[in-house]
Amino acid sequence: MEEANQIVAQTLCMLKEYIVPGVNTLYLDQLAEKYARKSNAIPAFKGYRGFPGSLCVSVNEQVVHGIPSRKVILKDGDILSIDFGVKYKGYYGDAAITVPVGSISDNAEDLLKTTRESLYLAIEKVVVGNRISDISHAVQQHVEEKGYSVVRQFVGHGIGQNLHESPEIPNYKRTGRSPKLLPGMVLAIEPMVNIGTYEVKILKDGWTVVTADKTLSAHFEHSVAVTEDGPLILSNGL
Ligand code: MG
Repeated sequence: MEEANQIVAQTLCMLKEYIVPGVNTLYLDQLAEKYARKSNAIPAFKGYRGFPGSLCVSVNEQVVHGIPSRKVILKDGDILSIDFGVKYKGYYGDAAITVPVGSISDNAEDLLKTTRESLYLAIEKVVVGNRISDISHAVQQHVEEKGYSVVRQFVGHGIGQNLHESPEIPNYKRTGRSPKLLPGMVLAIEPMVNIGTYEVKILKDGWTVVTADKTLSAHFEHSVAVTEDGPLILSNGL
């Protein structure tokens, strides 16, 4: 799983330098797919429940699951979330980052910073004996303290020989008791954070998730193993 996730991390790192004003999101998708295949990995999202791309590309108010398109051309001041997954030797890797396009506003910069921080605070809770709710709480507390909101409708997930496995990893506190963390579990933790309301809508393309109030949204994700020695970030290096 570490090998699968390292291919994902390397792909995302490689893409960063291509995220500049004027580039279209289909080009990024093609770069990602080529890189993964060259690494003998299979892009995991392509064809997943009919998703048309290898890379999810979500611009500005798009939260997740944006479809790559030649018609979507990045411009200075945008923020772009790129989410990538592969299957390698039978196991899955999954990670995401949100990247500035050119120079972005202070508000956008702070949203990215806060979302990334919330992911790392959540990862600190990946300790044997803790519960999924400890992860959820860490994200929610940090995000709401800064005045932002966490998306409810989409959540993180277990990952392994399937892209999405149990347990669900919400980024907000749910009622009831959540599963305990056990050594060997691997968790895809992925805070999705909005400047405005946590409510989202799905566009007519059936995939693209946008904030209901059109405010900016950011997304960071790591696949993290639970070990006796603490969290092991398999997709490290982003
Ligand atoms: Mg994921």
